[in-house]
Amino acid sequence: MNKKVYLDNAATTYVATEVLNEMMPCFNVFFGNPNSIHAFGREAQGLVDRARDRIAKAIGAKSNEVYFTSGGTEADNWAIKGIAHAYINKGRHIITSQIEHPAVLGACKALEKEGFEVTYLPVDKHGLVDLAELIHQIRSDTTLVSIMAVNNEVGTIQNIKAIGKICKENDVIFHTDAVQAFGALKLNVIDMEIDAMSISSHKIYGPKGVGALYLRNGIRIENLIDGGHQERNKRGGTTNVPSVVGFGKAAEVTVRDLAVYNQKMKSLREYFVKQVTEKIPYVIVNGHPHQKVNNIVNISFELIEGESILLLLDFEGIAVSTGSACTSGSLEPSHVLKAMGVEDETSQGSIRFSFGRSTTKADIDYTVEKLVEVVDRLRKMSPQTKSAKKGDK
Ligand SMILES: *Cc1c(COP(=O)(O)O)cnc(C)c1O
Repeated sequence: MNKKVYLDNAATTYVATEVLNEMMPCFNVFFGNPNSIHAFGREAQGLVDRARDRIAKAIGAKSNEVYFTSGGTEADNWAIKGIAHAYINKGRHIITSQIEHPAVLGACKALEKEGFEVTYLPVDKHGLVDLAELIHQIRSDTTLVSIMAVNNEVGTIQNIKAIGKICKENDVIFHTDAVQAFGALKLNVIDMEIDAMSISSHKIYGPKGVGALYLRNGIRIENLIDGGHQERNKRGGTTNVPSVVGFGKAAEVTVRDLAVYNQKMKSLREYFVKQVTEKIPYVIVNGHPHQKVNNIVNISFELIEGESILLLLDFEGIAVSTGSACTSGSLEPSHVLKAMGVEDETSQGSIRFSFGRSTTKADIDYTVEKLVEVVDRLRKMSPQTKSAKKGDK
């Protein structure tokens, strides 16, 4: 009887019915191995080809530039390590930003252990990378720049087209983690001058465990998995046909519905932010004031802990997140908010609300109602509140 409200769509989404419907027959009807040359195999291969075409079309790429992976994390790791290794003769310097997803930061850290040098660009208070600083950091031994298109914690949208242009002019390869951007923005790899791009299925109403790396023809990359001839010999292993087919459908649907979806997300976000800022004192909305995606809202509730808010909201059936799902569980302040200059104490009280296709205005009303109660209750208990009040002028 408890109401359930899911506001954690940036962590993962449900699988859309039209996606599921295309996946189902791949388990037991079109179950062939796409590499088999008989009719069963050819049938499965046809479905995989169609999925690849759909993804290519959704991002403005050619089909033979799309490589299926096990998800965004694998695509990020492969792009960064695989390109860095392939261009080692040119140099060992890589540029990224301080606010990247752990998949990118982790891959960069691993390269540092191998002797690569990584520059982590700072961001301004809205989460934007300074383009002049990027230009300043590019050297003759820089091979790769990896900067995310949309930040998963605060939703800030980077100036991807301008970054692509800078990389092109300086003869440096440009990779972007577009996992949060795909499904929220129109992406075109030609127009944005992107050389490599990571996307994931389960953030756009497709199944988990599948994603893709777009790699512009002509860009070299080290093989990821040696084995069969799958993925143009670069990532061996029998293709996960149902997942790939689901991802293809999800990509098609995402682009088809983008305008309607964004309109809906925008009105939900505006309604939510207005309610929260009117009804709850001492709140800060993090991220860029307008250069951000519509489905992510990050709010700091001063004087209390985000973890406590999350647990009490969970008790009311409301699912939200502190920072990113990948870093929660630790009480470390978010590396993203830290890079944006948010004080640790404020950062600790931050919650990410991420809306999705099924979110309704009634969900928002219920969430705001519970949030008012929860924040009030926690602030009354908070020792920080008492000391802050004492310090009030
Ligand atoms: C979710 C996410 C990833 C990881 O993708 P998986 O498919 O879950 O491995 C990478 N980058 C960003 C920005 C994400 O939001």
